[in-house]
Amino acid sequence: MAVPKRRTSKKVKNQRRTHKKLHVPGLIECSNCGELTKPHHVCKSCGQYDGKQVVEA
Ligand SMILES: [Zn+2]
Repeated sequence: MAVPKRRTSKKVKNQRRTHKKLHVPGLIECSNCGELTKPHHVCKSCGQYDGKQVVEA
């Protein structure tokens, strides 16, 4: 079994998982009414998605 030759320093150990996590898309503006909605979801205020009326508001 491979054995580490040197002890990992505290600095290197602490640097291991400092990368920023993937940015989670939060909210986008509705193209129809400008209201903030989740991307890839029907707008809650006007009921449109991709420029089409999907749900009655
Ligand atoms: Zn909308």
